[in-house]
Amino acid sequence: MFKIIAIILLAISTAGAGYFGWTQKKSNVAVTAQVAELEAKVEESDKKVEATEEELAASKEMLPPLMTKAQELEAVKAAFSTGTVLKDLEAAYAKEKKGLSTERQLGLAGVRLLTNGTKDPATVEAFQKALEMTDWKGQQKVICAAQNALAAAGEKIKVMSECAPEAPAGKADAHGAPAAKDAHAAPAAKDAHGAPAGKDAHGKDDKKGGKKDAHGPADAHAVHWDYEGAMGPENWGKEFPTCGKGKSQAPLNIKGPFEKVRFNVAPDYKQGQLKIVNNGHTIQVNVPAGSKIRIDGKPYDLLQFHFHRPSEEHIDGKPSAMVVHFVHKNTEGELAVLGVMLREGNENPGIKTLWAHAPKSEGPEVMPDGVMFNPANLLPKEMDFFHYDGSLTTPPCTEKVKFFILKTQVNIAKEQVTDFPFKMNARPVQPANGRPIYTN
Ligand SMILES: [Zn+2]
Repeated sequence: MFKIIAIILLAISTAGAGYFGWTQKKSNVAVTAQVAELEAKVEESDKKVEATEEELAASKEMLPPLMTKAQELEAVKAAFSTGTVLKDLEAAYAKEKKGLSTERQLGLAGVRLLTNGTKDPATVEAFQKALEMTDWKGQQKVICAAQNALAAAGEKIKVMSECAPEAPAGKADAHGAPAAKDAHAAPAAKDAHGAPAGKDAHGKDDKKGGKKDAHGPADAHAVHWDYEGAMGPENWGKEFPTCGKGKSQAPLNIKGPFEKVRFNVAPDYKQGQLKIVNNGHTIQVNVPAGSKIRIDGKPYDLLQFHFHRPSEEHIDGKPSAMVVHFVHKNTEGELAVLGVMLREGNENPGIKTLWAHAPKSEGPEVMPDGVMFNPANLLPKEMDFFHYDGSLTTPPCTEKVKFFILKTQVNIAKEQVTDFPFKMNARPVQPANGRPIYTN
C-alpha cells in the first residue's frame, strides 16, 4: 500500500517538477496553475488505491526509476497534511553535508507541494531550486519519463515532442490507466478542512446517496464516508483512526466556564473573483490569494470557506441553522478555522449572491463571469469569539486546528437555509476531554 502511494507521489511530484520546468522554459507563466492542477489530482488519492493495487503493480515496469525513489522515501506513509513527513524529510536531508541530489531536491519539492500546497512560496522555491541544480539537457530525460508516466496514467498532459518516441501510446494506455483511476477515486488524507490545497470534504445527504447508487461504479467519486448510515460519523474511526481515537476532536458544544485570553482576531478579507464549487459534500468558495486574518498578530491566509447545515458547533447545547467555516493556513502550515453561526432571520445578501451561482449538484468549480465577492460580507461587526483547539471535522479528522467561533451570529433567511443543497452535513459534537474553551 505504501509503495503505491509513494509511486503516485513520486510520479506526480517528479512530473510536477518536470512539468514546472518545461512550462517555465516555454512561457514562464501559469506555472502555479499547472502545479495546482497536478496537486488537485493528488488530492483525490485514497483508499480505493488498494482495490487496484494489483493493476498498479503491473505498471511497475513502467516506473522503475520512480520505484527506486519510492524506496528512498520509506517514511512517506500518510498524513501529508500534518506536515510530519515534510519535517522528517527536511531533517533527514539537512544532515546531507554535500547538499541534495537533484532527485532528492525534486522529491522534497514534491512532498512540500503535497504538504503545504501551491500557496506556500517555499513549494515553488523548492521546484525552482531543483531546476537550477539541473541542466536542461540532462533533465529532459527525467521530464520525459515523468510526462509519459502521467500521460500513461490518463492525465491530460502535453508530452513534449522530444519525448514521444520513448512512449508508445498503446503501451502507456494499457499500463497507466489503473493509476489514473486510483488518483481520481481517492479523496484521502487531504480531502478535508485543513487540506493543504484548501479544499474541504463533507458528506453527502441522503438524496445524493440514492442517486449515487443509481450511477453505480461509473461514479468516480465514490463516497468513503457520510453523515449517516454505515459510513456515518460513528464509523469514521474504522477507516480514519484519528476520527475515533483523537482526544482533541471537533466540533464542540461550547459552554462555560471559559478561560480568558487577551488577543484578538482581525480579518482582512478582500474582494475577488467568485470561484464556487459543489464538491458533493458542501458548497465551497475558493478564495483568491490576498485575504488574511491576524490571530494574536500572526497572519494566516484565507484559503476557502464553506457551509454546514445545521451548524456543527453547538452553543449551550444548541446548534444554529447553519455555520460558515473560513479556513486559514499560515506559512508554517498551521490551520485556523473561523466559524460564523448563521441563525434564521432576515435574508442575507451575501448568501443571496453565493446561492445564485452555487451549482445545485456536484461538479467542477465555476467562475461566473465578472462576479466579485468579498468574504467579509458574511462577517458580523463584532469579532468576539470562543476559542478551542480542535480538528478537521471531516475525515481524516487531523488535529491541531485552532477554532474561533464568533459570538455574534449573522442572519440567514429560512428559504436560504432550505435552498442549501445539503440537508445535513454536520458532524456531531465531540467529547471535550478536559479541553478548555477560551474567550476574549
Ligand atoms: Zn467545516
